[in-house]
Amino acid sequence: MISFKELSLPSEVLINLTNLGYTHPTPIQEKAIPLIIKGKDIIARAKTGSGKTLSFALPLILKLDENEHFPQALIIAPTRELSEQIAGECRRLAQYKKDIKVITLYGGTSLTQQVISLEKGADIIVGTPGRLLDHFSRETIHLGEIKTLILDEADRMLDMGFADDILKLVSNLPKQRQSLLFSATYPDNIDKLTKVILKNPIEIKIESEKEKIDIKEHVYSVNDKDKSLITTLQHFQPSLAIVFCNTKVKTVEVSTMLNEKGFDVATLNGDLEQYERQEMLLQFANTSLPILVATDLAARGLDIKDVDIVINYDVPMKSEDYTHRIGRTGRANKSGVAVSLCDEYGLKKLSEIKPELKSRPISELRPNKNFYLQGSLQTLCIDGGKKKKIRAGDILGTLCKDIGIENNKIGKINVYATHSYVAIDKSVIKKAFSGLKNGKIKGKKLRVWWLN
Ligand code: ADP
Ligand code: MG
Repeated sequence: MISFKELSLPSEVLINLTNLGYTHPTPIQEKAIPLIIKGKDIIARAKTGSGKTLSFALPLILKLDENEHFPQALIIAPTRELSEQIAGECRRLAQYKKDIKVITLYGGTSLTQQVISLEKGADIIVGTPGRLLDHFSRETIHLGEIKTLILDEADRMLDMGFADDILKLVSNLPKQRQSLLFSATYPDNIDKLTKVILKNPIEIKIESEKEKIDIKEHVYSVNDKDKSLITTLQHFQPSLAIVFCNTKVKTVEVSTMLNEKGFDVATLNGDLEQYERQEMLLQFANTSLPILVATDLAARGLDIKDVDIVINYDVPMKSEDYTHRIGRTGRANKSGVAVSLCDEYGLKKLSEIKPELKSRPISELRPNKNFYLQGSLQTLCIDGGKKKKIRAGDILGTLCKDIGIENNKIGKINVYATHSYVAIDKSVIKKAFSGLKNGKIKGKKLRVWWLN
């Protein structure tokens, strides 16, 4: 295994990587980074959770010209949540450079706010095809200086019917540019995009032995999916679980059922308002709600630490969807478990998309009937964020020093532009809530809510 040093990166990049806890490149990073630095167009295929984001973000940031006023890189992704995640990784990787602005453009949020951010200047734009095209049509983004185009999870965007939007955007980018495609799956129809977008692309595929993905896949034949879902949870006793359903309606039904049985559940589907989507995902990632019931909206790219089981409540329609769903676990060399619950129809469907998987009767599982997956933390939302110059340390300070909450009772703190969130142990959450409500953070009196 080589170290990042051997990729001949500037010392400030290496220092930043070390600070972020990255010491050795993953196989895709080792192969892709030097080629991208050289300016090649690339089609990269590597398994889920293998570090594709850094593979494209690191060289892209390296090349940014700090004196350029217009956006230099455009990253297109299929979902809002993935766009946010990629933007976050870009910001971390760009810490060593001065004033690199990364902005996200996606639907469900105010266009006007986005235009204001764009006017202040952006170096990297990350967004979903529809909203990007919207800005382009309104002439609120300047794409004339884009030097790098990245399509993350390109095949998914085709599935979602975004091909035309993407092609329209891309046809308005400078011809002299570098284009990069990343995904874990490339179905045949992807040529439709690649032929038009990339110039003499180099295909990078990581050989399978380097790609050992440590996900144990189980298929159970079941009669009652609701009961079997609980049996599965009570057998595997995970700390964090994602349950995939095929429809939005089903996610709500399954969440309600689990809630009624005493499990703490977050629901994620495209019917929710954008702030609800964010808060659901946040409460799952900070473990307040340790089960996420979602549509395929959550199947692509999302990187949530320590998800130990993915359960297909419904069998997905395509083998690519199966790969991406189960790829939410077993990330970054960790191991994971994937379970598909199949009634008669599900077995038939699965035999079409994954014929190699064999089913076992669900009666083989040994559930612990006393196990209920509940979060030990709950989340508070604070009406202030980066715009009010609030940092995580300020919130921690108020909680520990002013209110007297022990450090080990405080979970993740997320600070966004206008709001912040903090996860707090249930045993002291009342004290924290009233303390924050009546006290001040960084000298400011802020409103506080209790989520759910
Ligand atoms: P992919 O896009 O291939 O599914 P991600 O880019 O989301 O994967 O990365 C998966 C996880 O691996 C992330 O949590 C990321 O921080 C971590 N990661 C990426 N590169 C490295 C590295 N070189 N060393 C350790 N962890 C890494
Ligand atoms: Mg990814």
